[in-house]
Amino acid sequence: MKTLFAGLFFAASLLPGWAAPLPTLIIDGQNNHDWKATTPVMKAALEATGLFSVDVATAPGGNGPELAAFKPDFAKYKVLVMNYNGEMWSEATRKAFEEYVAGGGGLVAVHAADNSFPKWQAFNEMIAVGGWNGRDDKSGAYLRWKDGKPLLDTQPGGVGHHGEQHPFVLETRAPKHPIMAGLPEKWLHASDELYDFMRGPAKNATILATTFADPKFGGSGEQEAQLITISYGKGRVFHTTLGHGVEAMKCVGFITTLQRGTEWAATGKVTQQIPADFPKADAVSLR
Ligand code: ZN
Repeated sequence: MKTLFAGLFFAASLLPGWAAPLPTLIIDGQNNHDWKATTPVMKAALEATGLFSVDVATAPGGNGPELAAFKPDFAKYKVLVMNYNGEMWSEATRKAFEEYVAGGGGLVAVHAADNSFPKWQAFNEMIAVGGWNGRDDKSGAYLRWKDGKPLLDTQPGGVGHHGEQHPFVLETRAPKHPIMAGLPEKWLHASDELYDFMRGPAKNATILATTFADPKFGGSGEQEAQLITISYGKGRVFHTTLGHGVEAMKCVGFITTLQRGTEWAATGKVTQQIPADFPKADAVSLR
């Protein structure tokens, strides 16, 4: 019977247009955000495309022997989605993670995942910029957009900040990138935290979209990178600062860019259509 199933599976894989779902792993378990609520939302959003089969690896709490033993089998997956902001992993797990991404694995960092691991240099290179948890001027430059091009802003100042939550406009900066192709030039994201003053190595990074962090809401007054891709070795990384909680994740813009960014991180291509209910420049769209 097993052989028959294997045979059918193999035969199906030869049909045009048929592809096995991309094995995907969401990593959570520690986060100053409500990971217990947001992981299922992201899992459902990814699986709704039919492109991904999603497992979840939940790290134990604290910083004891249980966390030291946390070592997911990264190599089983095409892409990892980080919903983790917590204690440092063991050296063995960090090494496996670095080898996985450098060797061509996909990585997606969502919102507070970029608060994690301030002292892990390779991780900071993967995500380009991060905030909080002891980062400082030495962590790198602010990643901004000025005069029609990216700016690595080295002026001194704090690292990691957001003003009060509000809906804000994402402006596309790389319209030909597979993740962005077909998206509007501007779209209004649902009320969320707008990360600004984020610093990091920002090497091999492409800004896909920025937002003006309006001082009216406590922002920096700069165009701050919100959607970023990074190449790390042979690996592809998609970093979205969006998604503080389940309410912000109802935004069709968040959902669509998560789905597209995860496919791109896994394969380097995006096969998904832009949904008809994608937000407009002046109108939020929720699901
Ligand atoms: Zn947040």
